[in-house]
This record gives sequence, C-alpha cells and structure tokens, in this order.
Amino acid sequence: MKKSKEENCINSAYIHVPFCLKKCAYCSFLSFEKKMVPKKYLYVLNMEINKKYNGEKLKTLYFGGGTPSILSISQVATILKNFNFEKDAEITFEVNPKTVDLAYLTELRMLGVNRLSIGVQSFNDEILSKIKRMHNSACALDTIKMAHKAGFDNISIDLMYGLPAQTMKIWAETLNVANNLPVQHISLYGLKIDSGSKFYNNMPKNLPTLDEQADMYELAIEKLTKFKQYEISNFAISEDFQGKHNLNYWNLGKYYAFGLGASGFSELGRYQNQQSLDVYCKLDFESEYEEFESPEEEKEVRLNEAVMLAFRLVSGVDKALINAKFNIDFDRKYAKPLKKYLETGHIKETKKGYAFTTKGFLLSNNILSEFI
Ligand code: SF4
Repeated sequence: MKKSKEENCINSAYIHVPFCLKKCAYCSFLSFEKKMVPKKYLYVLNMEINKKYNGEKLKTLYFGGGTPSILSISQVATILKNFNFEKDAEITFEVNPKTVDLAYLTELRMLGVNRLSIGVQSFNDEILSKIKRMHNSACALDTIKMAHKAGFDNISIDLMYGLPAQTMKIWAETLNVANNLPVQHISLYGLKIDSGSKFYNNMPKNLPTLDEQADMYELAIEKLTKFKQYEISNFAISEDFQGKHNLNYWNLGKYYAFGLGASGFSELGRYQNQQSLDVYCKLDFESEYEEFESPEEEKEVRLNEAVMLAFRLVSGVDKALINAKFNIDFDRKYAKPLKKYLETGHIKETKKGYAFTTKGFLLSNNILSEFI
C-alpha cells in the first residue's frame, strides 16, 4: 500500500462529549445522563489533547456526543484553545435543541464554531415523544431560527426514519418542512435498534417494516429537492456545504480522537479510546489499536475499507486512485460482483469508475459483502 506524505499528516479531530440531559429511547451511544459536563471530565480531556495532539493546523474539528451543547461556553473556549486551525477550517458542533438559547449560540459562533449539526430527528411531536426526545417540533424550528440570528450560515439537521408509528404521510410532512428550511445540509438515519438502547429491552410497537423503511429512504431522495445527495445518507445544497469532516472519514483520511470511547485513525492504525469513565478520569489514555498478523492482511483490510467507503459516496469509486494506492486492477479483482450488479442496475459506470444507483444504496450492505 503506497503512502503519500500528505497522508501521514493529521488534519482532523473528533472530540467526544459523553453526557446528555436524558437518554433517547433509541440511543446506544456511549453517553451518561448529566445536567452539565463535569469539571473533572474537561480537565482530563484537556490533558489528553495536550498529550496526543502534535500541533498540526486542523482543517476540521468535530464536537460530537452525547450532547456537546451542554458544555458551558467557557468549557468550549478552553477546549478550542488547544488547537491550531487552517484559515478556512470547518468547526462543527452537535446541538440538542433543548439545550441552547440565542446567547449560547451567539457566543459559540464568536468562538469560531462555524457549523452546527442539530439533532431534529422529526417535525412530528407525537413521534418525538415516542422516541423520548426532549424537544418538540416548535423548539427545533426555534433553534434553527436562533442559529441564523447567531450568525451561522452552515447548518445541518439530522432526521430519522423507520420510527415507531411513523407513517409515510408523517415522514413526507417532516421532509416537506425540512426542504423549505434555511438549512444547508441534511443527514438521514434509519432506525436501528441496538443492544444498550431502551428500545432494545422494550421493543416499540408499530415499527415500519424494512420495505417501508426502504420506501421512506426513496421518498427522502424524491422530496429533498433543494438538496443534492452526495453520500448514501447525506444531502447538501451545494458542494461547498458537504460535511468536510465526514468526507475525510469516507476518503480514508486520518483523524485524532479525543474523549471517552472516541475512535480515531493514525499512522499506527484505527484505535478506540478507553471506554470506562472511571479509568479515563484516572488519566488512562491508553487506546486499543487494531492488530494485523501481516502487512498483507492490513493492506486487504484497508482496501476493503476504501471500497466500502467510496461506494457510500454518490461519486462512487475512483478506480485509478484505488488501483494506484493498492496496486490492484479493480476491474479484474471485482469482475464478478461488478458484472452481476451492473446487469441488475444496482451499480452504474461513471467517468472515474463505478457508483451505486439509488436501488444499489438500498441494498448496499448485501452488495458490499460480495466485494469484500
Ligand atoms: S441520541 Fe444523542 S441526545 Fe439522545 S441520548 Fe443519544 S447521544 Fe444523547
């Protein structure tokens, strides 16, 4: 596997804030119920950043969680002071509508945060209550309005489909509202009930079937006319507003991970930080790295990742890029699944290689299992 100088440089960082006011019913993320971020956590997080960060100028920084918007403004300022940034760096902050007001968002913008990702999920109050979100539709709309007033012109919202009692009509209404909002980006999530979530032990009634979920996904592509899909689950009003932080993930770029349980990717491979809050707070910054038995195995794993991640993008696989990086002949190596899915219309040829069609995105996991 060939590595360029640029690849060895880390220009992205993720920060995990593992606290939320209240746990949502579908959530299995590493987060604890707390009203505010404990001082101790902030102290330890800063220590970790000081220990691991080499001072590169960051192109992207992403505050995720959990609920980063329960950090106080002075806590955000303390974290940001650790980093150097490129002039046009993208600094994204996940926001839970129930946790912010205009003053908070204005100060956040003044600190240099320039992109918000707002966890809206639905514009239907009954659905929001079923999934145990703390906000209602009016509160979400208010947050978007306040974000504008505060000076944000790069706003993303998350929407979920496949939710209990969510009909096609309810989903269409949410999509219609979203399509007419002054936001620049939308991320879609299909409900998956994982162990560790409240739903897992208490299965909700009236869940849409898998076929209905697929119809909901197709309806989103049809209804979000103001946006252009650029990834399996992501839409932006123009290329300028595509999420740069996530694009780095999908292009197999390296990134730092700071905070409890955060996952990163460095020269030494992919890693996950300590997952026990007690241990992490004792300043144990040991991360668990993936292990390979041979360089060949590592190369195979990276190739599989590169193919899977590139197929997530609407632009698809760039054959020349993958061939050069992994010293393979893409057409020959994947001749069988390519022939099969080009014939069925799940994959199409592009100028640079191959990409999934919408029909292909719906079956992406099954199709990709034949590539890896
Ligand atoms: S979905 Fe988000 S806001 Fe809800 S509990 Fe999980 S991390 Fe917290």
